[in-house]
Amino acid sequence: MGKPTGFMEYPRRKTPWRDTKERLLDYYEIYTPAKDHDLKIQGARCMNCGVPFCESEHGCPIDNLIPEWNDLVYKNRWRDAYNRLIKTNNFPEFTGRVCPAPCEGACVLGINEPAVTIKDIENSIIDRAFEEGWVRSQQTTKRTNKRVAIIGSGPAGLTAADQLNQAGHSVIVFEREDRVGGLLMYGIPNMKLSKSLVKRRLQLLEDSGIEFRVNTNVGVNLEPQALMDDFDAILIATGSTIPRDIEIPGRDGKNIHFAMDFLTQHTKSLLNTSLTDGNYINAKDKNVIVIGGGDTGTDCIATAIRQGCSSLVNMEIMPKPPVDRGHNNPWPLWPHIYRTDYGHEESQERFGKDPREFSLLSKEFLVDEHNKLTGLKTINLDWEETSLGQQSMKEVRGTEEIWEADLIFLAMGFVGPEQYLLDKMKVKLNDRNNIHADYGDFSTSIEGVFASGDCRRGQSLVVWAMNEGRGAALAIDRFLEGQSTLSAPMLKLGSLRG
Ligand SMILES: Cc1cc2nc3c(=O)[nH]c(=O)nc-3n(C[C@H](O)[C@H](O)[C@H](O)COP(=O)(O)OP(=O)(O)OC[C@H]3O[C@@H](n4cnc5c(N)ncnc54)[C@H](O)[C@@H]3O)c2cc1C
Ligand code: SF4
Repeated sequence: MGKPTGFMEYPRRKTPWRDTKERLLDYYEIYTPAKDHDLKIQGARCMNCGVPFCESEHGCPIDNLIPEWNDLVYKNRWRDAYNRLIKTNNFPEFTGRVCPAPCEGACVLGINEPAVTIKDIENSIIDRAFEEGWVRSQQTTKRTNKRVAIIGSGPAGLTAADQLNQAGHSVIVFEREDRVGGLLMYGIPNMKLSKSLVKRRLQLLEDSGIEFRVNTNVGVNLEPQALMDDFDAILIATGSTIPRDIEIPGRDGKNIHFAMDFLTQHTKSLLNTSLTDGNYINAKDKNVIVIGGGDTGTDCIATAIRQGCSSLVNMEIMPKPPVDRGHNNPWPLWPHIYRTDYGHEESQERFGKDPREFSLLSKEFLVDEHNKLTGLKTINLDWEETSLGQQSMKEVRGTEEIWEADLIFLAMGFVGPEQYLLDKMKVKLNDRNNIHADYGDFSTSIEGVFASGDCRRGQSLVVWAMNEGRGAALAIDRFLEGQSTLSAPMLKLGSLRG
């Protein structure tokens, strides 16, 4: 523990994002570089708790050694901090930027003070490691002559590939898109995670011996049987990609799009031609409604504002969360509180108001005689907590409202993995249509075929995909070699999903 009295002396200070006015003019990352002095002070706030809840089942899903690197940053021992960080985290530059940081929600300091800025510290350690040239491709001398095929190149597939390659197996990652990275590439926008950072990491993975095959849609232009014949083990890491739809009148109207179509096309065009090809859904001068909150909704807001939309409303079916933790949401649980994310700040800057409207149910998409969208009809919901602690809702009569809209994005989450590959491989599904594979074992109903990430656990977070990637790599290595020295996160309550 760096400074025993640090937590009493210093307040929490987060590294600020770039000024909203400035960042709205471009698609660069929203972050500013952290100052060493501020990070040292945040490191000093860490109490090196006897039971570090930041690492508990409510904290970091990949068991990051948080108090250790907090202390090392306080002591200015950055290289040692980097060496501790990479013991548990294959890609800290991704989690350091996009993770919602359950570790901070569980930090013991959070009982009566704002938590240590763990995420800022993590991000700064890896950024400094890249600047100093400490991050190198992992070369392995031992080769096992075993071949592993990984289907899907999101964080689950990439983490497993990195681990299995380090264990000496030959790994080929198959990706149906034209670029590798899954939602790190096409999903999370540049403003939150620069694609140059994703490419930098992919280059390191390639240099370490992993092969990537893009434009390879397994189950469409490559038969899974060929992989089953050619490889010693297969990992399915295809994500949860079927978007939740909304079955109300007018759904077939023009200009109603799934959020992922909007975000993917935009990023492709940005990367291919700096948006000059015009091959994307353009919100310029349009009245835009985003249905659904969460990260996907926020990313649509931020992208539409940068494109120059003329108005923006974000509709949420749930009620507005409380400012502080509710009675049924105590520490160290993840705090379900009202948060202002980057897109909400940017809407405030551009339109003078937060875009979110809560407790609204969409009733009908309104269209003109050419079936072109003109608006959305909603009704207010009244939410009540039942005696069992669950939320129940009812429509409030007489509160129907019409909202003008030229463009609507549906960002209501995902219902599971696409089935074409799973049907062909004949893997068993669970009752939520995800792949049936127990956590910790990760093996599917077919011997030698494993599953991890959102296709197994349902839509989740990058850090959980990485947790499952490490876990699946350990299971595959054991399957191939009978034993393994790879490390994987410990079993946690959150792990048991899926
Ligand atoms: C818009 C958006 C923003 C998000 N923001 C955040 C955030 O800020 N923080 C956070 O922690 N999480 C965020 N998430 C969630 C996070 O991105 C996912 O939980 C995570 O990427 C899941 O990883 P995965 O590897 O399981 O799958 P994915 O990242 O979905 O990758 C699956 C890959 O498999 C490929 N694939 C599918 N089928 C085939 C096939 N048959 N053959 C070959 N390839 C195939 C897909 O093309 C895709 O590249 C966000 C999600 C979305 C949609
Ligand atoms: S819970 Fe918070 S204060 Fe305690 S060790 Fe973890 S980061 Fe430090």
